[in-house]
Amino acid sequence: MANIVYGNELAVQIKADIKKRIDQMKQQQRRLPKLSVIIAGEDPSALSYIKSKEKACEEVGILNGLITLPQDVEEAALIDAIKQLNADDSVDGILVQLPLPKQIHEEKVLACIDPSKDVDGFQPVNLGKLLLQQKSFQPCTAKSVMRILKEIGMEDLSGKHAVVIGRSNIVGKPVAQLLLKQHATVTICHSKTADLKKFTKQADLLVVAIGRARMIDASYVKAGAVVIDVGVNRDENGKLCGDVDFASVEPLASYLTPVPKGVGPMTSVMLLENTLEAYEEREKMYGRL
Ligand code: NDP
Repeated sequence: MANIVYGNELAVQIKADIKKRIDQMKQQQRRLPKLSVIIAGEDPSALSYIKSKEKACEEVGILNGLITLPQDVEEAALIDAIKQLNADDSVDGILVQLPLPKQIHEEKVLACIDPSKDVDGFQPVNLGKLLLQQKSFQPCTAKSVMRILKEIGMEDLSGKHAVVIGRSNIVGKPVAQLLLKQHATVTICHSKTADLKKFTKQADLLVVAIGRARMIDASYVKAGAVVIDVGVNRDENGKLCGDVDFASVEPLASYLTPVPKGVGPMTSVMLLENTLEAYEEREKMYGRL
């Protein structure tokens, strides 16, 4: 039976550490870290992500500013809002909540964020640095996966075959780069991969980021593999579930993350960590730290 890795418990610990550091800043009457979030429109998933991010900020004491723009906002107005935040010295992190309304070019907008404030890690400069294995803000979900692996003693992945299913810019590709950085031999699979099982059955570590409820059952998994389920889906009964068929894979895997309570709760905490990192860099730059 797999050891179940509860990301929510790890998230609580990391949040407590962050809170302690911010409490110290308060005692020393220092400037506090600030995250500014821009949301355009009323996509329900975007609104719910925003709420959980706001709550996480409040819990640790990170200041958060929310800029709400209408669904029909023009791209130029959104870019203007980003530029104002880029220029605002009290702002350490900027996050543009995705998805954006159809008339907005996501890539163009993300590219306008000052890389030193890009706490989501989606700005091309930071993604380029990730590819070059240079210090950068790591996209939060990918960072969560790596933190979970560290927690189970899988920091050094030398000699391990990691298979990532999914090649999105926000999950699959950054995860693959971070696994490579930790010396794994990495295979990336996607919807055009022929014979997916041929690859997944070889995986010592399987990271699943597809977006299809319970698609990955035991027939895809090698005995003893570590399985990290990034997927967040609703099943036919509206119940939250991952991309991995938990009941089927649990008897086979050595470690398995559940959904909910797995990777998801770690993601907003990694955002807090990135905001703190951005704050510290800023304070150092101004000679205040
Ligand atoms: P995308 O839809 O952007 O990417 C999905 C990837 O899965 C694509 O690369 C796609 O291939 C691949 N794929 C789709 N169907 C198959 C298939 N049948 N076989 C193999 N590969 C397939 O999704 P995201 O990367 O944004 O998200 C993936 C999942 O992770 C979702 O469930 C999402 O909700 C969840 N998520 C969870 C987060 C968290 O914090 N826990 C954060 C972000 C996302 P192709 O490229 O060829 O289309």
